Amino acid sequence: MSETTVSETTVSDPTRLPLNTPHRFYRGGERILAFRGLDVPEAFDGHRPEDWLASTTRLFAEGGDGVTVLADGTPLPDALASDSDHWLGADHVARHGIEPGLLTKLLDAGERLPVHSHPDRAFAAAHLDCDHGKTEAWIVLDAEPGACVWLGFRDELPADELAGLVEAQDERLLAALNRIEVHAGDTVLVPGGQPHAIGEGVFVLELQEPTDLSVMLEHRRFGLEEAHAFLGLGLPRALESVDLGPLTSDGLDRLRRRWTDVEASGPALPDEASEYFRAEVLRANAGASATGAAAFAVTVVVAGAGVLTTGTDAPRTTEVARGDVLLVPYGAGDVRLEGDVTVVRCMPPA
Ligand SMILES: [Zn+2]
Repeated sequence: MSETTVSETTVSDPTRLPLNTPHRFYRGGERILAFRGLDVPEAFDGHRPEDWLASTTRLFAEGGDGVTVLADGTPLPDALASDSDHWLGADHVARHGIEPGLLTKLLDAGERLPVHSHPDRAFAAAHLDCDHGKTEAWIVLDAEPGACVWLGFRDELPADELAGLVEAQDERLLAALNRIEVHAGDTVLVPGGQPHAIGEGVFVLELQEPTDLSVMLEHRRFGLEEAHAFLGLGLPRALESVDLGPLTSDGLDRLRRRWTDVEASGPALPDEASEYFRAEVLRANAGASATGAAAFAVTVVVAGAGVLTTGTDAPRTTEVARGDVLLVPYGAGDVRLEGDVTVVRCMPPA
């Protein structure tokens, strides 16, 4: 080992993340390409609705893709293992190991997603041999007029009635959920266990615990196998992971925010999210720069253009504009944003 530890990867800090859009069972993806400034390829199959950013997670089914490969060809997990203190920071490694503990996605719902839910941590530990459940959060970047999401049962649903609705596979399942019209600037936290769906025409930046564990309450019209739909657990056990409600308007209010209300820097998500992940908005304009502390951060430029400076001793500047997606390692140091530009930094829990 030489005196100075050099990352074995050859990518620069920060590094731009290439497109990583595994095939999914539902339609979408053109908004991701447009956001990233890419043309729709001639062979586009219309089923690339998710761009997995800085992912160390694999799909539960559908081929098992999903892990990010950096621009120099290094799979992200190998890069993290080769210099974990640089990428994640020694404190993070001491508490969480060499896993970021976070999965970030761009998601373009080209059709309404099926009603589904994700296990919480306790259920995942008890029945799926997994430390993480999948609490998730949506940062709405764009939405067609009238587009909406659905979250939580409006009225408490007895377990046998839920089982009946899942057996029936009809519209009553969706109708039992709170329907929420969304607009660019909204954020919604989706706790593990809460049933939900994203409607057609909604484009989100999504943070999740790093698993692909979903209970597909609606599955037939999407052609999903029951083993896939119920995580190999069988219907009765899988349904034990679902929150039967009710999710009242007060409960919903606690799960919602406006990320566009942040002035210079501040959290995009409700406080309840901080146990799982953090999303920090940095907004610079002609009058003021915005700063953030060193962190492993999936940094998504959501509006405008400017310059991101990392580090203090030997600062590095990166020109950024809407649609850029950068992975900034902890070791790159504090960040400063200048210009007329807004970024969202998606980070593991503090
Ligand atoms: Zn979900």
